[in-house]
Amino acid sequence: ETAANVPIRTVCCIGAGYVGGPTAAVIALHNPHIRVIVVDRDQKRIDAWKGRHLPIHEPGLEDVVRIARDGGAEWRRRSSVGQARAGAIDGETPDEVVEPRRQPNLFFSTACVETIKEADMCLISVNTPTKKRGVGAGRATDMAAFEGACRDVAMNAKPGCILVEKSTVPCKTGQLMKDIMEAHRPGVVFPVLSNPEFLSEGTAVRDLMQPDRVVIGCESTISGHRAAAALANLYAAWVPRSRIAPINIWSSELCKLAANAMLAQRISSINSISAICERTGADVGEIAKSVGMDPRIGPQFLKAGLGFGGSCFRKDIASLTYLSESLGLPEVAAYWQQVLTMNNFQRDRFARNVIATLNNSLRGKKITILGYAFKKNTGDARESPALDVIRILLEEGPKSISIFDPLCSESDIKRELSVLEQEFAVCKPEGPVEVLSDPYVACADSNAVLVLTDWDMFKITEQAKPTKPESSADSYDGATPSGLLRITSNLDQVNISKPPTP
Ligand code: NAD
Repeated sequence: ETAANVPIRTVCCIGAGYVGGPTAAVIALHNPHIRVIVVDRDQKRIDAWKGRHLPIHEPGLEDVVRIARDGGAEWRRRSSVGQARAGAIDGETPDEVVEPRRQPNLFFSTACVETIKEADMCLISVNTPTKKRGVGAGRATDMAAFEGACRDVAMNAKPGCILVEKSTVPCKTGQLMKDIMEAHRPGVVFPVLSNPEFLSEGTAVRDLMQPDRVVIGCESTISGHRAAAALANLYAAWVPRSRIAPINIWSSELCKLAANAMLAQRISSINSISAICERTGADVGEIAKSVGMDPRIGPQFLKAGLGFGGSCFRKDIASLTYLSESLGLPEVAAYWQQVLTMNNFQRDRFARNVIATLNNSLRGKKITILGYAFKKNTGDARESPALDVIRILLEEGPKSISIFDPLCSESDIKRELSVLEQEFAVCKPEGPVEVLSDPYVACADSNAVLVLTDWDMFKITEQAKPTKPESSADSYDGATPSGLLRITSNLDQVNISKPPTP
């Protein structure tokens, strides 16, 4: 039997976040004859997706949404999508590309139940954070949102609707989905697929447009293979078949955790070397360069910095350690746990270096933090290394900490800082932390300026580079901000250029 037996006319994507929104938009862009409806319970987020200011910042996303959601208005300027398409046709990039109008096929809605009812395929891309309390707190994955979405699907989906895990979930979640479906709709077949997302924030559109691989995990049943073929067909509209890998469903679930764990492990590995460098006078940048020239190792993810942040690496490794322990593999759990330990050590060391450089006291001193996002080109403030640094600095009672980030909103930063509220009253207007929209105002009269996100606008000018490397590191395209300490009140040294337009 072929995939033609499973016609897909309507795709419902549950969860309009960093993964759900861009993924649905790119699927819709390349499959103009399929309706793609993204649903979320968060009315504000959906309103933003429908409006002019999208709720997340990703280079190229506006262009994709404008075509799929608004029906492909003519291109009036260069656009990433237009360039990619025109480039594919004639190998050149014209100044202006004119797209024919098309029917809008990307929609955003809070009507979860109604949308699920008409869907032939449901992608579940809801949040799967770490559990905050109870059994496995701090490590196990909190499956509440995922289970909630599954139940919504179980109670409302058409028989045969294909369920796709896009969220990052512990291995064997596919079984949980089947159990939920069976409990609500005994005897009805709902094929379950695992299709983990490998995009990185900041390059989400590029990653989705040109993925290294699309992994589709399915059960070894006829309905499983047919469902996998139907999903593969959606991707094949723009991804070469050779990059679409159908694999066993448990391998698919585990490969996402493994990929993130290995990327994070490289960061912790080079950071561990940076600690030795600080004590010996070796230069971690030179070491990373030489080590990375070995083709067996490669140069990616080898730049020392403040360690990885964001909503994925830490939680996915925590999930892997918890999974290993639940499977009776404490040695495996301890191995991966060490990656997290090294990450915390790096931030701690950086913050303590700052304090030591300021004569072991922050009393009466003002610290400025340039960059809050967990890496450049994203407005995502979740689990930023800056939070850990700020926590340690606040313990020293500074006069004030001023924060500037070109994309993270004040409300997002304050929401993240609210975990420090009880101890330090950070969110009160008279509290020690302020978020400013002007980097120069933020830096004025500071005793130290810390560059904690490697935004291009904070690039250090040649003449301002410290003669002796401090805890400095460049960015790398995955996960880690700088960690560059400038004890200076001379702002000419920190070359702050124009911020990107949000
Ligand atoms: P997010 O928090 O930005 O978005 C999740 C959305 O799901 C929220 O808007 C929430 O309101 C919505 N939601 C939760 N339960 C719902 C329900 N029952 N019905 C409708 N909407 C519901 O999360 P994200 O960053 O997009 O991540 C989603 C998943 O993808 C996670 O499992 C994450 O680990 C994984 N992932 C994330 C990234 C990334 O870079 N952010 C990359 C790869 C994979």
